Amino acid sequence: MTEIFNSTVLENLTSPSLVQVTKNVFATQSQLNVLEKLWAAWYAYMQNDTLATGLMFFLTHELWYFGRCLPWYIIDKTPYFRKWKLQPNYIPSDKEQWECLKAVLRDHLWLEAAPIWTFHPLCKSLGIKVTVPFPALHTMLWQWALFFVLEDMWHYWAHRLFHYGVFYKYIHKKHHRYAAPFGLSAEYAHPLEVVSLGAGTVGFPILYAFITHDLHLFTITCWVIFRLLQAVDSHAGYDFPWSLHHFLPFWAGAEHHDRHHHYFIGNYASSFRWWDFVMDTEAGPIKKAEREGRKKSKISAKNE
Ligand SMILES: [Zn+2]
Ligand SMILES: [Zn+2]
Repeated sequence: MTEIFNSTVLENLTSPSLVQVTKNVFATQSQLNVLEKLWAAWYAYMQNDTLATGLMFFLTHELWYFGRCLPWYIIDKTPYFRKWKLQPNYIPSDKEQWECLKAVLRDHLWLEAAPIWTFHPLCKSLGIKVTVPFPALHTMLWQWALFFVLEDMWHYWAHRLFHYGVFYKYIHKKHHRYAAPFGLSAEYAHPLEVVSLGAGTVGFPILYAFITHDLHLFTITCWVIFRLLQAVDSHAGYDFPWSLHHFLPFWAGAEHHDRHHHYFIGNYASSFRWWDFVMDTEAGPIKKAEREGRKKSKISAKNE
């Protein structure tokens, strides 16, 4: 049974289709906005909250991830955009993209099979709301901002750890197969890396709900979408004049992460530039030379 609605939206319908349920919700629930109506129709149609949440999360992941990769694939195929490619001598071949797509999809299917059935019970036990209406926009905005900041911190330190010895050799090396990344390669990684870096995306909302008992599943769903877009875009390999970091200088973007793949050392954070700046781990020959210069002047100052 669904928590979202009583049976009014399903009245007079035997084996209703998703379209029929959606029409009924739109006809009877005028107090809700469009997204709330669609959300409610999905749960009313499914009549099984566990499966509704699990499938929604799985489908959200697949549609937004591969949906976002498609324009990048087209851009890679279009010579006009080459002038903004960060590593213009390397354009991924169809074979590489296809191999990468198959590997990522295969990992998604087996890694996400269990959460399809377990995520909703976990939400329930943490008091995460699934009902409509959704929380106020300003509430969701600051929660998204908080999750972005926390995830970035987690990603920075976990990613730095993945560059040490055995962690790199047996886990993170797979993700560094592409020195010039492309959109689809964002989630091309060892399953242990997917799980541990993914913990920064889903772990903080879970912790937040555990502490506050005040979080909505819609807020988490949007956050996961934003994080997917950030991950795919940062691997896309293009720096346009309209790329976000030109307007928000602390935003990382592709220009930041592409250099991580190219130079291998530095630029470990995901969304923002502040951790690499503060910890002096910015990537690239200029930053490396600056770092070495600072070290040398420190040593000579000591010896004086
Ligand atoms: Zn790395
Ligand atoms: Zn990467």
